[in-house]
Amino acid sequence: MFKKDRISAIRPELEALVGAENVRTDEGEILMYSYDAGMARARPEVVINFTATGQVAPVVKILFRAGIPFLPRLAGTNLSGGTIPLKGGAILNLSRLKKIRQIDTAAGLALVEPGVVNLELQKALEPFGYFYAPDPASQKVSTIGGNIGENAGGPLCLKYGVTADNVEKLEVVTPEGEVRTLSYRDQGPDLMSVMIGSEGTLGIVTHAWLKILPLPAHIKTASAAFPSLDSAMRAVTRIISAGILPRALEAMDKVSMDAALSGKANPFPAGTEAVLIIELDGADAVRVKTELETVHKICSDNGCEAFKVAGDEGERALLWQARKGAYPAMARLAPDVLVEDGVVPRPRLPEALRETREIISKYKLTAGLLFHAGDGNLHPNVIFDRRDIEEVKRVKKAGYEMLKSCIRLGGTISGEHGIGVEKRVAMNWLYGKGELAFFHSMKRAFDPAGLANPDKILPVASDRSPSKPDLAGAFVFPGKSGLSPEARGVIDEIRLRAASGTRTAVTGLGTRLKPARIMEGAKPLDLAQLAGRAEIDRENLTARAEAGLSLEEFRRQLGEAGFSLDLPELKGSVGGLIASKVCPGIRGLLLGLEVATASGELLELGGKTVKNVAGYDAVRLFCGSLGAYGVIISATFALSAGKDRERAPFAEPAGWDDFEPGDIHRRLKKEFDPQNLLNPWVYRNI
Ligand SMILES: Cc1cc2nc3c(=O)[nH]c(=O)nc-3n(C[C@H](O)[C@H](O)[C@H](O)COP(=O)(O)OP(=O)(O)OC[C@H]3O[C@@H](n4cnc5c(N)ncnc54)[C@H](O)[C@@H]3O)c2cc1C
Repeated sequence: MFKKDRISAIRPELEALVGAENVRTDEGEILMYSYDAGMARARPEVVINFTATGQVAPVVKILFRAGIPFLPRLAGTNLSGGTIPLKGGAILNLSRLKKIRQIDTAAGLALVEPGVVNLELQKALEPFGYFYAPDPASQKVSTIGGNIGENAGGPLCLKYGVTADNVEKLEVVTPEGEVRTLSYRDQGPDLMSVMIGSEGTLGIVTHAWLKILPLPAHIKTASAAFPSLDSAMRAVTRIISAGILPRALEAMDKVSMDAALSGKANPFPAGTEAVLIIELDGADAVRVKTELETVHKICSDNGCEAFKVAGDEGERALLWQARKGAYPAMARLAPDVLVEDGVVPRPRLPEALRETREIISKYKLTAGLLFHAGDGNLHPNVIFDRRDIEEVKRVKKAGYEMLKSCIRLGGTISGEHGIGVEKRVAMNWLYGKGELAFFHSMKRAFDPAGLANPDKILPVASDRSPSKPDLAGAFVFPGKSGLSPEARGVIDEIRLRAASGTRTAVTGLGTRLKPARIMEGAKPLDLAQLAGRAEIDRENLTARAEAGLSLEEFRRQLGEAGFSLDLPELKGSVGGLIASKVCPGIRGLLLGLEVATASGELLELGGKTVKNVAGYDAVRLFCGSLGAYGVIISATFALSAGKDRERAPFAEPAGWDDFEPGDIHRRLKKEFDPQNLLNPWVYRNI
């Protein structure tokens, strides 16, 4: 059966906007955009090439009116099928939009178009003495737009954060063709953070204001050779828990090393099974040197057989070439490579690696293990030949088992490569029905017509898979049964109120929410009762605090245990500080939330890993949500080892709650709380 031609009718309008030569339906072009770096394949109906950012919104408006699906595409290096047009429609090729518009070192910002290649930006920043932290191994070709679409990471993200931590502001074209500027500092829920990692399913980024940093004055790079992966992983955990935060802490197993060093002299002792690349930086040479000595000692104590510090820039570059060249080296060994991307809490890395190796051997496959060890992010590179159907089946099964192993160990299914189409089914294993429904409602609020990169990230009907991993012994949020009696009481109360349509004023310690602001008729729900002792995971450097715990008391408990929280001096409860977003930087420390919806359903969002791009960033959406999207029950934070630093007093922004909801905020509210039961004065007329 022939597919209906949906493009001819709008072609004249499109051509008038971008030029006839940029509206392509010829077979060569269609074939070229039918695949990306992942395994999936599907044909678009048209490829539209853009030559100016201002063309994007009017083109999207035309497609929206015509009901034609579309997706933004850049270098196509994503590894999850994110740029495959599953429902046909238009590929929006933004790769010619590659101007670096401004480098403002005084403000610490660079304004760029989405098609700027990551490495080109680094090169442009270097003469100013600056760099942009996210450095994916694909940085020679992957672009800022694609990095934002996937929330890309790289070796430097251990110290400097992933893409989401390094974006100040975005200009976005909504799926209806409207232009919006979003920043995490905006009043109200953090829409900018939700856009990052949304794989083109919520809108299209047309400009990005990126945070840039001065190049560190001193960098030391070392390699450490270990007789086993286990001993290398033990060293990783010890380094981090000693309070040292390397700018990179990468690991390779013997298979990856042999591939990367093929044809070159092997600098490591015989019997080396794992190599760590450790890079430290800072402004103070003495401190960097002292940290390097400590790292050396930790490695030696854990069985390291050769610790070598790069003597000059050339030796350093060689080490990084080996690490960044390991994937292409594996790719040269076979026609195809599957790169997995699971994450586990760092202390669970030895188990995760053991299980990964067992899976690889069970399915008789060859894989090199590469990982961002400091982040607990594993990249098994499984080589195969897609023409061998039996082998493809084994690769797929092995991949799924690796993801299930990460989930069982308290981790997640993607740290940086995204879900796309290839891991949709695994979303069913990671999340419950409530969380998936929540993500679907986020998608509807941003893209009511469902045209932006459809059928990506969230499972569709055909992704049914009953075989959830066995979670015995895994870290999961306490879940309903593990909650404190007070938390259970709060959730039961919310459910009762929902049944009777009672409006609720969510109240913490009363630090900011003044009674005069509470709308008449809303019954207070006291969260100060949620103040149980914080649960500190010493090895993982994380802590879970109930929402009513004051920051002061949380800090006191952390201090007693030898940890600190990198936040300024602030008054109020943990939940209140997240919901009010008086300090927008709180988002950078938040790893997970337990939230009760307006109907009293408990959602477990995020978790305990420092990287997680599985699904939309609902955790950050709650920053600034002013208690109107759901009730925060507890939060999990990333900690720093060691004592609290001296903190300067923090000047809270005036009018933190003078929030005027925009259309997307309102649609989200309608999805989450259609009866406007929670803090109803925030959205008076939904
Ligand atoms: C050899 C190799 C090494 C890699 N190493 C890493 C690594 O170390 N770290 C890492 O994180 N990833 C890595 N990747 C994966 C990949 O490079 C990243 O996901 C990268 O960010 C994709 O960028 P891109 O320009 O290729 O984007 P594309 O693949 O074209 O697009 C990626 C996604 O973003 C969406 N998108 C594109 N443009 C926009 C826009 N303007 N607005 C909104 N959404 C948009 C797309 O629809 C798609 O869903 C690697 C891939 C390869 C092949």
